[in-house]
Order: sequence, then structure tokens, then C-alpha cells
Amino acid sequence: MQIWNSIGAVRAWRGGINGRVGLVPTMGSLHAGHLSLIKAARAASDVVVVSLFVNPTQFSQHEDFDRYPRNLPADMTMLEGQNVDALFAPINAMEMYPHQYRTFINVEELSKGLEGSARPDHFRGVATVVAKLFNVIQPTGAYFGQKDAQQAVVVRRMARDLNFPVHIEICPTVRETDGLAMSSRNRFLNADQRHAAPVIYRALQAAAAVYDAGERKPDAIRRAARDVLATEPLADVDYVALTDPGTLRGVLEMSDQPILLSIAVKFGETRLLDNALLPWSLNAPPHLTSILGGM
Ligand code: AMP
Repeated sequence: MQIWNSIGAVRAWRGGINGRVGLVPTMGSLHAGHLSLIKAARAASDVVVVSLFVNPTQFSQHEDFDRYPRNLPADMTMLEGQNVDALFAPINAMEMYPHQYRTFINVEELSKGLEGSARPDHFRGVATVVAKLFNVIQPTGAYFGQKDAQQAVVVRRMARDLNFPVHIEICPTVRETDGLAMSSRNRFLNADQRHAAPVIYRALQAAAAVYDAGERKPDAIRRAARDVLATEPLADVDYVALTDPGTLRGVLEMSDQPILLSIAVKFGETRLLDNALLPWSLNAPPHLTSILGGM
């Protein structure tokens, strides 16, 4: 695996590559969710590049940038095992945001609700760093997780609006055996919180079950999820939202189109996200990339 710490070096290497280049952007502290993106990239690309950068511009002042888990040696071992061709790990934040840096990308409307309500500048930072990575790496495809569905929708919009010739693939959420969505932040949970956290998955399942049973009132579907979350005293619910997956606008009335059910819950200081597309079939889960299609 080639390891590049500077934009100049990775660009020089990229200049000599032909064929399909798959990029998997990450903030490191890798787990099986990241590896699933790498596998998807591997299957569709000649060359796979993983980027690893804890991006300061997507954290606000009071957030966990400083304590975000970092473990480069373990990450590198995992990447070697995945047959990754190159790792781009900027040496420091200055490499991406040098002195006098002033340019940011704002994906309007899509960045505002859900996570954007709790984290107003978050998607500005995400869209900016992903656009920079696209310019530096020039991938033909880029791979994101449905676990962060709003991020995937924002990035996809940004890529289309700014004419990046990059296919955006959104891959299914990888879960622990008890249903908890894998996340680098799960390691912040203490034993009691970790035990409690799969309540999010059960809440998604409960809402999906009432939807399957024919319920189409958004309030009733949200309530099914909230009722399950309320059984867990350690779960401090931030939101349970039903939105159109493309516009991320809240739905007032259900149609037969797939709906995105998103949940954010705090366990102590750790905020966890999860979501499901309804109708949610475990055998043939709806695929966000194809649902978004031409949007
Ligand atoms: P992060 O390192 O948390 O910024 O995540 C990097 C990429 O991995 C993002 O596209 C995430 O959506 C994706 N990802 C994180 N957790 C999971 C998961 N459990 N399943 C699938 N993809 C994931």
C-alpha cells in the first residue's frame, strides 16, 4: 500500500494511474462498516484509495474533535489486509487548510435539518473536505455509508451541482450482531450505554413493522419508534424524523415512495445516528443510491 501524507505526493502518484479509481473517505478508527465501503470500491475499481483525515471544519467548537478516536497504526494494518492501493492521510490540518484558507461549500437546504439542526456548520465542513478530496484524488467513484444518510445525500448533491464526474455509491449500514450500527464513536460508550444502545435498532424495527402493517400516518410511525426508545432510560432522544430521502424534507403525508426514518440519540456525551428506508425489508433492503437515482 502506498502511503501519502501530502497533496503534492498523492497527486503525482494519481497522475500515473489509468482506469477506475475508487475513493473511500474516512476519519479513521476503522471498523467493519468502513471495510464494507472498501470492498464495494474494490469490486468496481482498478485502484482503491482510502483517505484518512479527521476534518476539523466539520466539528464545531464544543464538539469532540480533540477526543475523536485516532489509531493510525491499527488502521494501516486493517487497510493492508484489504488490498488497498493507496492511503492518503494528510500530515496535519494545515495540509488541507493552509494559512489564509477561505473557501467553503454550502449545500443549501439539505444541510439544514436533521443533523444540521444540532450541528449548523457540520455539512459545510463535510462538503468542503469531500470536494477537496475529489479534486486531489480525482476518483471515478466514491463510496459512502447509508449510516450517515444525510451526509451521503449532501455529498451527492454537491458532486452533481459542481459537475464532479464521480459516481457516488451509498452502501448499506453494517451492524453489530445486536443491531447497533457500527460507528467509531461506539467506543466512547461505557458498558451500560453500550448495552442500552441497540434500542435504536429496535426502534427502527418497530417503526418499520407498523409501516409494514399498513400504517401511513407519519405521527404514528414516529410514535412507534419513540415508544421503544422511551423504554431505555439512558437514551436521550434528539430526533425521530421521517423525511423524503432525496429532499430530506419532513413528510406530512405518506405516499408509496420510500421514506427515510432517521434517529439521533445521545447516550451520555455520545451522539449516535441510525436510519432505515421504509419499507424496510431485511432480505432486500432498499438501496439509497438507486432510490435517489436521477434526483
Ligand atoms: P467516518 O470515518 O465515520 O467519517 O465514516 C467514513 C465513511 O464510512 C462514511 O461514508 C460513513 O457513512 C461510513 N460508515 C460509517 N459507519 C458505517 C457503517 N456502520 N456501515 C456502513 N458505512 C459506515
